[in-house]
Amino acid sequence: MIEALTIGITTIALGGFFLQSRKLQKMKQTMAIKMKDFQIHSDSLTQEIREEQNRLLDALSDSFLLLDSAGVILFANTKARELFANKQLLGRQIQECFIDARLTEGVNRCIQTGEPLQTHVFLPQQSSPLGDRENRGINAWIVDAAKLGNSTSAKPHTRLLIRDVTAEYHLEQIRKDFVANASHELRTPLAIINGYIENLLEEEVLENGEMARRFLSIMQKHTDRISRIVEDMLMISRLESGENVAINLEPFQMKDCIQDVLERLESLILSTQVHVKISLHNEAMIFTGDRFYWTQILFNLIENALKQNTTTPHLQIEIGTSETNDNLLIWVSDNGMGIPSADVPHVFRRFYRVEKHHSQKEIKGTGLGLSIVKRAIEAHHGKICVSSTPGQETKFLMMLPKPNI
Ligand code: ADP
Repeated sequence: MIEALTIGITTIALGGFFLQSRKLQKMKQTMAIKMKDFQIHSDSLTQEIREEQNRLLDALSDSFLLLDSAGVILFANTKARELFANKQLLGRQIQECFIDARLTEGVNRCIQTGEPLQTHVFLPQQSSPLGDRENRGINAWIVDAAKLGNSTSAKPHTRLLIRDVTAEYHLEQIRKDFVANASHELRTPLAIINGYIENLLEEEVLENGEMARRFLSIMQKHTDRISRIVEDMLMISRLESGENVAINLEPFQMKDCIQDVLERLESLILSTQVHVKISLHNEAMIFTGDRFYWTQILFNLIENALKQNTTTPHLQIEIGTSETNDNLLIWVSDNGMGIPSADVPHVFRRFYRVEKHHSQKEIKGTGLGLSIVKRAIEAHHGKICVSSTPGQETKFLMMLPKPNI
């Protein structure tokens, strides 16, 4: 009886154990499935996060790269791939991909020492990553690299950012050139005036009224020149301060503006014995623009045509207008000595002068006249170009969009 009871209890116990064990087994299986699901879910979540990160990095306007501890590229965003013309970047060392050592040497130092790097690199066009895809002269880049926190050798170790600052570099160069040229242009007449003042301070010169007057009149010419340079510089600076501030649009008749300029230049016109022809396609045409700047534009162009050709026989100057469907065309042309073809592309640059046009005795122009003209036309959303066949025709042609009329 006792034996049968023992067997019965054992059977129940064993049954319970097997039952428990099956339950456990099932639970284990369920757990494993859940774990797998979780793993898949977390993998896809990681993948999503990574894709989102890449999307963000691709949206950067700078080139962004991740490097391992040996300088091998692990990631390159869209901008970086474009910069290196879609060549193979991933898995390659930076020095294999970046042609010029100046771009990589600082980065390698940063990888080795962990010291952050931020430097400007200036490269000639052919050594620039862009190569001859663009023609911008010197290319300027900011190279910014830093070691990532907690990086091991296998993982991304250093991030590298390359920013193209070529446009800013050229603007800065223009500003520096402008200041250097302006100081040079002002220094010359100031030195001359100083020299004459020193002479005038001497007793015998002061007592010689005629000589003193001559010296004073030379000084006056040079102070006039200084004022003109300063006025021209102020005008350029106003035009560059933003066209909305600078331009004051109003309706006026182009014919009146031309007459006004010719009156101002009357004495030069009379002394040059020039024939001035005005050919307007519509005499009564009302033009909308800044009359102050249009007076300046026409003044500079007509004065140039006159002063460059004081010795040209049978000089003719034409001021004309015509129109196309979309544009109003205005030109000033002359049949004078012209501009040598090598100088033509440069005449709109600040302080540019065709040297051989000027004799030693003559006081030079400021070299700013045509830059003012160009900027004033651009402020009216127009364009200007020049063509020149010496002795036949030198033509400054301005093209303005019709809504300006
Ligand atoms: P500048 O003050 O010397 O006149 P501009 O900027 O007005 O400066 O002109 C630049 C140069 O372009 C002048 O020095 C001159 O050599 C040349 N130039 C401009 N207009 C004419 C023209 N109509 N004929 C010949 N040369 C010209």
